[in-house]
Amino acid sequence: MTASLTEQTEHTEPGAAAEFTRAEARTAHNYHPLPVVVAHAEGAWMTDVDGRRYLDLLAGYSALNFGHSHPRLLETAHAQLDRLTLTSRAFVHDQFADFTAKLGDLCGKELVLPMNTGAEAVETALKVMRKWGYEVKGVAADQAEIIVASGNFHGRTTTIVGFSDDPDARDGFGPFAPGFVTVPYGDLAALEAAITPRTVGVLVEPIQGEGGVVIPPAGYLTGIREACTRENVLFAADEIQAGLGRTGRTFACDHEDVVPDLYVLGKALGAGIVPVSAVVADRDVLGVLKPGQHGSTFGGNALACAVGSAVVDLLATGDFQRRSAELGEMLRERLEAMVGHGVVGVRVRGLWAGVDVDPAVGTGREVCEALMARGVLAKDTHGSTIRLAPPLVVSEADLAWGLDQLAAVVSGA
Ligand SMILES: *Cc1c(COP(=O)(O)O)cnc(C)c1O
Repeated sequence: MTASLTEQTEHTEPGAAAEFTRAEARTAHNYHPLPVVVAHAEGAWMTDVDGRRYLDLLAGYSALNFGHSHPRLLETAHAQLDRLTLTSRAFVHDQFADFTAKLGDLCGKELVLPMNTGAEAVETALKVMRKWGYEVKGVAADQAEIIVASGNFHGRTTTIVGFSDDPDARDGFGPFAPGFVTVPYGDLAALEAAITPRTVGVLVEPIQGEGGVVIPPAGYLTGIREACTRENVLFAADEIQAGLGRTGRTFACDHEDVVPDLYVLGKALGAGIVPVSAVVADRDVLGVLKPGQHGSTFGGNALACAVGSAVVDLLATGDFQRRSAELGEMLRERLEAMVGHGVVGVRVRGLWAGVDVDPAVGTGREVCEALMARGVLAKDTHGSTIRLAPPLVVSEADLAWGLDQLAAVVSGA
């Protein structure tokens, strides 16, 4: 290590500020974190290295739906760590059957293909839809088209960012994979018009999370389902952020009683303990994959399956969905009351909200910095929009307090 690098990274001064500087010094700046350094967390609260406490209103982008350090999930993870963590899929382990059966049942589907990150699950869904298109639908080789929506966020691989319309996500990373057609999100007629004999699938988020918690018009998902059935096209719902209790139902598609052909899941499936993602579908869809045609060294590992099983057990009680729906009503009331007082618009579904702050109040980043000074951690997305996604275990009183802080910040108190 050179002298200058040593100088940059060696700090004797303790505390969050020094630790933050040290962390930023030796990482690529592909993130712009708030200047907080968290040391531990429980439930909806995080504590920094100086002992300051913060209410977590982001929940790891919904990876922490069940809160930090959920006792049952931690116990499961600890016990599994001591027994077995990985076999690779070359051998079967004793956590695999339970996980796939439970998750399949939660989704009402026959088969589960476990992966690790959300982007890998999306890639899996894209590959499965293409293969289904060639082998089942009979599309000519390499001609498959998949319809996606404007404003989407499906992950960061080169294929996925190729059909993003966010310049930050996309620019500088081409050339991109062909075979994707973008239509305006929420516009059913445009989506129907884009279907051709080469269309093998539609990939949409039932609610766009990164986009700012954008909720499509009522009937949109139902319309996609009907169009896909009519035109022999697969419907893949990216429920990675919207699913698993966040919106007050198990899946965001449940609000319209819509069942997609492929559920694409991630984030909360690993409870913020390990990355766990999956594509869940029936045999006529996932059955197109044969040995050697797709895989992942860590996908479906024993630790991931143990944690994922425990997550599905929690969801199967319905308690978290109920809690999300109930607290979501309070969240909606409180946020709607802020409209006209520093907030220009809100979108709420369950315990999930996009809050458009009046640009006169400040950027989303500035609002998040002001919230941090008041002991609340939230994340801006796209300009002046704040996304709120508290852990579903947050207490009513803590959530109310957090919203008091937001009301004070946006009203300039
Ligand atoms: C976060 C997210 C992804 C990507 O998940 P990673 O685990 O970050 O790869 C994909 N789709 C949606 C809707 C997401 O919110």
